[in-house]
Amino acid sequence: MPTRAEIEALDRTDPLAGFRSEFTLPPGVIYLNGNSLGPMPTKAAVRAAEAATLEWGVGLIRSWNTAGWFAAPYKLGDRLAQLLGADAGEMVVTDATGLNQFKAVAAACALRPDRRVIVMEGSNFPTNNYMVQGLAAFLGQGHDIRFVEKDGILDAIRDDVAVVALTHVHYKSAHVLDMAAITAKAHAVGALTVWDLCHSAGAIPVDLNAAQADFAVGCTYKYLNGGPGSPAFIFAAKRHHAAMQQPLSGWWGHAAPFAFDRDYRPADGIGRMLTGTQAIISLQAAEPGIDLAVRADKHLAWAKSRAMGDLFITLVEERLGVDMFRLDSPRNGLLRGGHVALAHPHGYPIMKALIEAGVIGDFRAPDTLRFGFSPLYLRYTDVADAVDILADIMARDVWRDERFQARDAVT
Ligand SMILES: *Cc1c(COP(=O)(O)O)cnc(C)c1O
Repeated sequence: MPTRAEIEALDRTDPLAGFRSEFTLPPGVIYLNGNSLGPMPTKAAVRAAEAATLEWGVGLIRSWNTAGWFAAPYKLGDRLAQLLGADAGEMVVTDATGLNQFKAVAAACALRPDRRVIVMEGSNFPTNNYMVQGLAAFLGQGHDIRFVEKDGILDAIRDDVAVVALTHVHYKSAHVLDMAAITAKAHAVGALTVWDLCHSAGAIPVDLNAAQADFAVGCTYKYLNGGPGSPAFIFAAKRHHAAMQQPLSGWWGHAAPFAFDRDYRPADGIGRMLTGTQAIISLQAAEPGIDLAVRADKHLAWAKSRAMGDLFITLVEERLGVDMFRLDSPRNGLLRGGHVALAHPHGYPIMKALIEAGVIGDFRAPDTLRFGFSPLYLRYTDVADAVDILADIMARDVWRDERFQARDAVT
């Protein structure tokens, strides 16, 4: 087991240590939930205030031009493209992940009109499944979702498949799918891919074009620290731009939005993935978080996140034994995204007791505790301190207290 001195040395030599000062973190909190809602970059509050008081308050309607409001989805998309291995003009920041998933899967299905099967992982974050179930019912063309789990994905991709719609890093277990291999298999049978990068962007390196991905979506409020409900992103590879169509054909995706034509005519390029007026203040506030992720070396970031996850697993096992919690994430950090999942039959009250003690992670039914190891603001000593607190809660049975048993509305 590493000593305290060794863990402190890791912090002193951490090449990413400087990023921590870019965040506003509340005192007395070890925040291991950046995989669900990233903390606030200090500049995000400044940017949000500026967008409200100056751009809105003073600029008023003029700000569509003078503050770059109309161009913001493209500008942020181009910035994020640098992090995710896309080219300029292949990504926009807009709408929610679920909406973008709907648009991307619809566009991919329309590019494969003679096929009806969509391959998905059944244990994926539910909204992905729900959105595609909604889309299939709405299309009314007999689209069928072939649900599989990770070991069955490649076999499920056969020549009846239109679209393979998967999440790169699993929201619960954090297992990482091989984007390049699965995309290659999809292309070999004539199918297209839609990748969800919610738990990847800002956590582990992604190279969309190297993997030949067709479409991708993801949120900006997790490891990109964009703020609660900040707009999501959508990527479409340039080779699909001319032919792709999505059904939420609002005026922002029109070729000439200010011509006010009667009929829809899609914009050239990624702009046709837009729908309507953006949540501008949220969009502007998301920029500093995206910027930090783009500035950090993504290989160093993942290496640190993996090392923190490895340290956490080691310390939990050394302090609490291997039987108290079941490790539900890959032990090999190279197969794992940014968080570690531990299962315990009393996971809910244990997490509530942890949160009361200042260690914020989260709980996913029925029995999963998730601990996110976001690389830009956490220290190795935070990981060690969190395990100390967990060990204390378990040793003294703190979690058995009545006040930790009742479920809150949001877990
Ligand atoms: C976080 C997350 C979402 C969130 O979708 P919203 O539309 O923002 O609610 C969707 N899919 C996955 C896999 C996620 O991890």
